Amino acid sequence: MLVIGESTNRQRLGLYGYERDTTPELMSIKDDLLVFDQVYSPRPYTIETLQQVLSFADEKNPDLYLKQPTLMNLMKQAGYKTYWVTNQQTQTKRNTMLTTFSKQADEQIYLNNNRSQDSAQYDGVVIKPFEKILNDKTDKKFIVVHLLGTHRKYHYRYPENFSFFSGNKHLPKWLSDRQVEEFNEYDNAVRYNDHVVSTLIKSFKKSKKHGYLVYFSDHGEEVYDNPEHLFAGRNEGAPTSQMYTIPFLLWQSDSWKKHSSLEHKQSTIVHRAYSTSDFIYTWADLAGITFAGFDASRSIVNPLFTNHPIWIGDPDNPKKLRDLQIQPFSDMRRGIQLGQEKHHLI
Ligand SMILES: [Zn+2]
Repeated sequence: MLVIGESTNRQRLGLYGYERDTTPELMSIKDDLLVFDQVYSPRPYTIETLQQVLSFADEKNPDLYLKQPTLMNLMKQAGYKTYWVTNQQTQTKRNTMLTTFSKQADEQIYLNNNRSQDSAQYDGVVIKPFEKILNDKTDKKFIVVHLLGTHRKYHYRYPENFSFFSGNKHLPKWLSDRQVEEFNEYDNAVRYNDHVVSTLIKSFKKSKKHGYLVYFSDHGEEVYDNPEHLFAGRNEGAPTSQMYTIPFLLWQSDSWKKHSSLEHKQSTIVHRAYSTSDFIYTWADLAGITFAGFDASRSIVNPLFTNHPIWIGDPDNPKKLRDLQIQPFSDMRRGIQLGQEKHHLI
């Protein structure tokens, strides 16, 4: 199972050392998880990122998603029935590409018919359809769940009873009243996302099915994290770490753990620096699928993994691409600096 999140910066997750308790439920199951702490998205936008994440395309070869098989094609060919459950909008022009990806699955469940992103639509709606698919009789299945996560406007992303953080106690003094409100709303959205992702994991565990679940966010989000320029959102032209640092988690059933034997290596592999543009190699590796062109050095869980450049930027402007291995971000406030392995907060 693949859970794709939305606009969630890992530096705002308690699980990654953020001082606020935004991830109580994931914290309570963290011994069951591999928590990768140096994973980056190649771009700060949903569609542009997923074109790379779900295919062989990357910053240097951005068009390969049109020419080579995608993750959905790969899983189908390997004999899996494929499902796409989404709480993202499917009715707007901007999201046509997402609909195209989802149509590559055998079955689609579209749960969000809003035309405006500024409307309340909670990710909890994915849980029931997911459980139904999980427990149906199909033997080999590949389920993608696409969440709205912590997309702006943040207060539309969580129900009233998840309104946990308020006021400006412990918050940076430079924030205006409205910014304090949005800062809190973002953390509340992260806390609700924590609930949804952990509920999916717990359902999977309870089903006793043989398998694994990966969760990551498509990209990050800046929400007034930097006093030098108070900004909320994402801007590829003025990149900050918050727009690219993403949570990346792996849960495996007990039977899968034995089968995959990743466990003994987990203390080192979780600190590998990685771009989700190479995700298709990790996924194929986890699923035990090999194919011509499989590159083990691009799988974050493979013993043959090696460091690759972590490119960010607009691939239409190749000279301007930035390799985070060479030019890391210097503005990580609550997370972990690239390459500083001693700084673990988990
Ligand atoms: Zn997105």
